[in-house]
Amino acid sequence: MIINKHYKNLQSISKNTKLVHTYFPSKYGFSPYQACQHGCKYCDGRAEKYYVEGDFERDIVIRENIPKLLQEQLPKLRERGTISISSGVSDPYQPVEAQERIMPQVAEILTTYSHSVSIMTKSSLILRDIDLWEKVHQKSGVILMISLTFLDDKLRQIFEPQASSVKKRLETIKAFKERGIYVGVLAMPFIPYISDSREGLLALVDKLAELEVDFVLPGGLTLRPGRQKDIFMSIIKDKFPQYLNAFKNLYRENRQSGLAISSYRDRLNREFNQIFSKLPMAVPHYLYQDQFPIYDELYILLEHMKELYSKKGVNTTNLEGALQRYTRWLLAEKKNFNRRRNLRDFDLEQKLLFLIHGGEFANIIKNDKLINFIKGVILERRTFDYLKLKLD
Ligand code: SF4
Repeated sequence: MIINKHYKNLQSISKNTKLVHTYFPSKYGFSPYQACQHGCKYCDGRAEKYYVEGDFERDIVIRENIPKLLQEQLPKLRERGTISISSGVSDPYQPVEAQERIMPQVAEILTTYSHSVSIMTKSSLILRDIDLWEKVHQKSGVILMISLTFLDDKLRQIFEPQASSVKKRLETIKAFKERGIYVGVLAMPFIPYISDSREGLLALVDKLAELEVDFVLPGGLTLRPGRQKDIFMSIIKDKFPQYLNAFKNLYRENRQSGLAISSYRDRLNREFNQIFSKLPMAVPHYLYQDQFPIYDELYILLEHMKELYSKKGVNTTNLEGALQRYTRWLLAEKKNFNRRRNLRDFDLEQKLLFLIHGGEFANIIKNDKLINFIKGVILERRTFDYLKLKLD
């Protein structure tokens, strides 16, 4: 496929958020490309809200300054934290990367720093750089997040025409696991009527468990009104006309978020909670435990616990109250941290440790059981098991 390359510089790898990202735990991030040759028919990146100009599959923005930017900015970062190489609107290992070779330069640079990395892709091209990613993993930790929902390659060809085949993605997972690198699977989006059957989900989870992936993040299909929904519906009309009316019904509310009607979402979430429960359904604690300052680690952990317990039907009111109070404390401290450029993450860590040791942290958490749990995590460096829901 002929593409138009547009070279543009990226300005910063810092994320414009006050708190660390918890769903994909990360503090910094970048994407070497914008728009995506993989051309997935459901891709959210096509939505107008992302302002991706031109033909989404052919007009590819290339940020060739990224290696230089990393060399300039990495030494100046004041806080530890995972760097996420991903974007909802591109894939770092899409075909153009075979010629541009930005990612091996990135990996080479990252071997000399102590920031862990997570990389999100649907491409086996990442195998080209596996030796480099293994080096980065040995130094600071790498999580490969590979997207996979279909086990049937005929469906993959319809919905993800230019992405790697199912076989190649499974081989990629296996190869990274064999090198000891962490692998999670982004099992999203399941397509209603086509790839969301109970049998299909069971087959996928068995395959992922066999490959010993570290976690799975399942999700349903969203269709934002406009380009994204129009392109997707034209594929359904063409290839699966028997489901066209059913799709119109599921997405009849035309929500800006693209969500399907709630009865469908509730049914799917119930299936996820039953079927995927063999695997952690969040990035597990052991993958991010030593990659962030302890104040961010605690924030990610409490957010994840809220989700994990509520999926089990446990009342999380007390936990949510403690999390809200902790978040208020953390935001205030971060405001101060950002004002005083001489402070490092170590200084804020010391402040948190001082509050825990001195007993004042109990006034923020207001829950004795949770305080003991936090002491286990922060002072004894114990790890929370996301399947057993207890400290190891
Ligand atoms: S690989 Fe990701 S970014 Fe690229 S088209 Fe597919 S869903 Fe969109």
